Amino acid sequence: MSAPRLTHPALRKEIIATACRMNGLGINQGKSGNLSHRVPEGFLVTPTGMDYDTLKPSDIVPMGFDGSHGGARLPSSEWRFHRDILQARPEVNAVIHTHAMFATTLACLGREIPAFHYMVAVAGGDSIRCASYATFGTEQLSRHAVRALEGRKACLLANHGMIAIGDTLKSALALAVEVETLAAMYWRALQVGAPTILDPAEMARVIEKFRTYGQQRSSAGMGQPSKSRRS
Ligand SMILES: [Zn+2]
Repeated sequence: MSAPRLTHPALRKEIIATACRMNGLGINQGKSGNLSHRVPEGFLVTPTGMDYDTLKPSDIVPMGFDGSHGGARLPSSEWRFHRDILQARPEVNAVIHTHAMFATTLACLGREIPAFHYMVAVAGGDSIRCASYATFGTEQLSRHAVRALEGRKACLLANHGMIAIGDTLKSALALAVEVETLAAMYWRALQVGAPTILDPAEMARVIEKFRTYGQQRSSAGMGQPSKSRRS
């Protein structure tokens, strides 16, 4: 292969590294997840049906917001919700989608994650919503996802998986891990009984505290508390 000049080589490598890390962290199954990052011309997205550990920078697909794509590979079948989220949310640069075990288990029950734990606020509100079901890859699924993400940085997708967004791939990945941890805790709590749900006033206090911490520890981005936030 000749080596045409690739756009955004460092970002392509970071997308691949993040995709591999997603599987290493156990928050994705096989090649089912996908991720994207905004660029000035549109966005870059992982290709459809390829194992992450075989990906080369040239396999990452450049796309325009009109749905056009370049490069040698076809984009992820879920490119529509990546595009629509990036279009609807100018503060967001990175979108991560996985079929993480516990988040997907709750999503298959059509359950959102309520404020059973104060850390639910890392996703931006007093719940992590579950978007209604629609066939994968469709505009309908994309519309449901954008709506479930209103005022939030993560959501579940009914009978499907989850989405986490952020200003960087790093912050989106950290949030995806947090959502999966919360889903696992909530699932476990449900096995024993009915978890106590924190009231909206308390969650509003937590959300406000997280906002302040996010500014002091800027690395996590988007007002999201950093790793050291846990008491
Ligand atoms: Zn999926």
